[in-house]
Amino acid sequence: MRFLIIIFSVCFLTACQLTQQPETVKTVDMYNRDGDMVGTAKLSEDPKGVKIELKLEGLTPGFHGTHVHEIGECEAPDFKSAGNHLNPEKKKHGLLHPEGPHLGDLPNIEVDTSGKVDTELTVSDATLLKGKNSLTERGGTSLVITAEADDGMSQISGNSGERIICGEIKDKKGETDDQEPTDPTEKEKKK
Ligand SMILES: [Zn+2]
Repeated sequence: MRFLIIIFSVCFLTACQLTQQPETVKTVDMYNRDGDMVGTAKLSEDPKGVKIELKLEGLTPGFHGTHVHEIGECEAPDFKSAGNHLNPEKKKHGLLHPEGPHLGDLPNIEVDTSGKVDTELTVSDATLLKGKNSLTERGGTSLVITAEADDGMSQISGNSGERIICGEIKDKKGETDDQEPTDPTEKEKKK
C-alpha cells in the first residue's frame, strides 16, 4: 500500500503533472511564399488576450495587414489553406467596422526601410488555453501577413491583398482534426 502511495505521489508531483501543464508560451515560425523562414512570432498568454511579439525581415517597407486565420495550415504559395479570419462570434471584418471586428483582426504592422519589423500585438480576448476563443484548439489557427494594409472596414478582409507570410499556431501534439472554412460563401475570391 505504501508503495502505491509513493508511486502515486511521484506521478502527481512530477511527470504526470508536467504533461498536463498547458502551453502558455509558444513560438511560431513564420514562412514566406517560397518556403523560407523569415522570422518568428512569440505568443504568450496575457490578461487581455494573447500577446504576439513579432519579428520579421525581408518584407516590402510600409504597412501590411496582419490577421489570425481559422485553420492551422500554411500551404505555400498562396496560404489559402489557412481559411478565413478567425471569427467565432460571426462579426463583420474590420477594427473600424461598427459590427466588427473578427477575433483575428489585428492592427497593420509597419515595416521599416530595411524590410524589418519588430513589434508587439495583442489578440484581444483570445487564449492559448481551452475555450471558444482558443488559438490552439480544434487543430489550431495561423498568423498571416498580407501584401497590402488592411483598411479596417472592407469585407471580408479589408482589401489587404495577397497572403505573403504565414505561421501555424498549434499544439506540438499535432491534432489531426479536419478543418473546413466556416462558410464556403465567405472564401476569398480568386484574383
Ligand atoms: Zn477580419
